[in-house]
Amino acid sequence: LSSKSEVLIEKENKYGAHNYHPLPVVLDRGEGVYVWDVDGKQYYDFLSAYSAVNQGHCHAKIVGAMVEQAQKLTLTSRAFYNDRLGNYEEYITNYFGFDKVLPMNTGAEAVETALKLCRKWAYEVKGIHENLAQIIVCENNFHGRTTTIISFSNDESARKSFGPFTEGFIKIEYDNLVALEKALESSKNIAGFLVEPIQGEAGVYVPSEGYLAKAKALCEKHNVLFIADEVQTGIARTGKLLAVHHENVKPDILILGKAISGGVYPVSAVLANNEIMNVIKPGQHGSTFGGNPVAAAVAIAALEVVKDEKLAENSERLGIILRKGLNEIAERNNLITLVRGKGLLNAIVINSDEESDLAWEICLKFRDNGLLAKPTHGNKIRLAPPLVITEDQIKECLAIIEKSLNDFKN
Ligand code: PMP
Repeated sequence: LSSKSEVLIEKENKYGAHNYHPLPVVLDRGEGVYVWDVDGKQYYDFLSAYSAVNQGHCHAKIVGAMVEQAQKLTLTSRAFYNDRLGNYEEYITNYFGFDKVLPMNTGAEAVETALKLCRKWAYEVKGIHENLAQIIVCENNFHGRTTTIISFSNDESARKSFGPFTEGFIKIEYDNLVALEKALESSKNIAGFLVEPIQGEAGVYVPSEGYLAKAKALCEKHNVLFIADEVQTGIARTGKLLAVHHENVKPDILILGKAISGGVYPVSAVLANNEIMNVIKPGQHGSTFGGNPVAAAVAIAALEVVKDEKLAENSERLGIILRKGLNEIAERNNLITLVRGKGLLNAIVINSDEESDLAWEICLKFRDNGLLAKPTHGNKIRLAPPLVITEDQIKECLAIIEKSLNDFKN
């Protein structure tokens, strides 16, 4: 590391709370699939800010929309109407096929919104007795870091010493329809089933084919809301606009964040039809920044880019090429034990236990060779470049990955 990087890292460590463990690299510029560090070294970004930068870094159309709007009006709060919000709401509800949207800022906020919405629907529409609603969630989930959300996390280090927690969650095994059916039948007070269509933070765990469609049918049978958290899997990341589209599922509540703005600005959203969304009345939920004019302008531009540049198609096609290349590397190098994913949301599982530093060491080697990725769940390395990546670039990245793994062995 250069002394310039070291000084900046030291500063963050001295003045910032230690709530992250960043890979040692200090970035100051990004364009498309590339980022540059403070010394001008270029890297392929294979994290995309946890799948927020699907449209590529600093996409000119999205940044342009932000700058133009920021020079005109940035924030009114929802105390008044603004000229951008209605147009955005019309655009995003048509885009995803729902009656209404509730605009928020971050993924965790949108998950909280969906949980509140689901409970209120259960009391006011389904007729569950007040305070008794239960929401089914999955083991190894990741939905954010607020107190209610960590109430049902499996990650003990993320929970320890943060209680007491929110009640009303039933945890079942992911990708297990028998467990879901049993949970649905266990009580008359089940309001919803919250699920990631692919578990991202758990190490890109892809459920069995048919799981989501069958889970949705079971929820329908029991009049329970199917709530899809597509914060990481949505916006073309897995090769379809939404990951639930692989199984033609329409969730009752859809949660979006991250790439809804191309990573340019914090924007998240909860979408549902009138029967559900109309239970929320003035004063019952909101946020000063949610639905601000900059967010609205940025999100329209970012969603247009996804369609104009056919990012879902690119993600699907290049995902296949990436996994094929990774599987070929795995045949030659036993450091990779498994390759999995969909579209451009992928992971390699490293031949080590979850507590080992091996995946971290490999990511440092990737960095030295010009590619940035990060271990998740110990021994998995997520590989998720911006969706604007080309076939030639994927090939170059496969060469970097193989060279790094080979360097590593020696
Ligand atoms: N849900 C899922 C599925 C996520 O992957 C994440 C972030 N990794 C979140 C929610 C939380 O989003 P945010 O960090 O914007 O609060």
